[in-house]
Amino acid sequence: MKKTLILQAPAKINIALWVKHKRPDGYHELASIMQTISLADTITLKEIGEPGIRIFCDNPDVPLDGTNLVHRAATVFLDRFSIEPRLAINIDKKIPVAAGLAGGSTDAAAVLTGLARLYDKAVTVPDIMNMATSIGSDVPFVVHGGLALAEGRGEILSFYEPPKPPLVVVIAVPTGVSVSTRWAYENYHSGNNQAKEKAFGEVLQAYRRRDIEALKALVFNDLESVTLHRHPEVLKIKELLNSTGEGVAMMSGSGPSVFALFTDRRRAMNAVKNLDGMAVNVFIEHITRKNT
Ligand code: ATP
Repeated sequence: MKKTLILQAPAKINIALWVKHKRPDGYHELASIMQTISLADTITLKEIGEPGIRIFCDNPDVPLDGTNLVHRAATVFLDRFSIEPRLAINIDKKIPVAAGLAGGSTDAAAVLTGLARLYDKAVTVPDIMNMATSIGSDVPFVVHGGLALAEGRGEILSFYEPPKPPLVVVIAVPTGVSVSTRWAYENYHSGNNQAKEKAFGEVLQAYRRRDIEALKALVFNDLESVTLHRHPEVLKIKELLNSTGEGVAMMSGSGPSVFALFTDRRRAMNAVKNLDGMAVNVFIEHITRKNT
């Protein structure tokens, strides 16, 4: 009988993002604190009769060909186990596309772990992490999910228990703004490393103890200097989410999405009210533990 599997693929936010320097291989050396959240795509994997990998998604911004990261993930996995591709992948897209929330990466991660279950393959953690790294820098993190310190180009991971009870996260994505991750990195010029090193060293502990006041002084995302300069509306959204003083707002990844952390839903709703009149999509979510 042909099997079907349904999986959740969670978005991520960068609690802090430190872009250190450009490496000889062209990638940037990073240090980032990453966290998965409840906003998620739903991926359905289905064995089919005819050969090939067919992708379905009703969001017109998502490619349906070999450039979709789910296609790359399926190809890497099926090659690794010499399985002939006869697969349909449906993406129910909830995560805004090209928004700095790792939507494509998390879909790819779900396909890797899902195919191991669909084909009943015992895949070791190093093996799945190697496959993930070959697809993209953010993929290894979202394979595991939860809270991690990511180093290297994002693939060297140390996992931690996320704060308890879960923080509430507001995600605000300006409509009509899309940011290429590549463009953001190409336009970033590094500097001021000592102050960043000190702040970065303290962010993780402040975050884990849910200390919003400490986080206000410590969090930073180096790519904000690039994206906020080009897109002032992103800065405006950040300021509005910060204006109640009850949470801490930051851009995620290369943007343009902005997230804000709150200790409870009431405080989150107070800040959301301030976004009235802005061209923005808002999601009220919470941080999540590791993927299951
Ligand atoms: P990151 O935070 O990892 O840099 P992002 O969240 O900014 O990524 P994505 O949503 O992954 O960006 O989309 C970036 C581009 O990748 C899209 O413009 C799209 O063309 C392409 N893409 C490939 N596969 C997918 C997918 N499964 N979902 C969304 N976009 C995809």
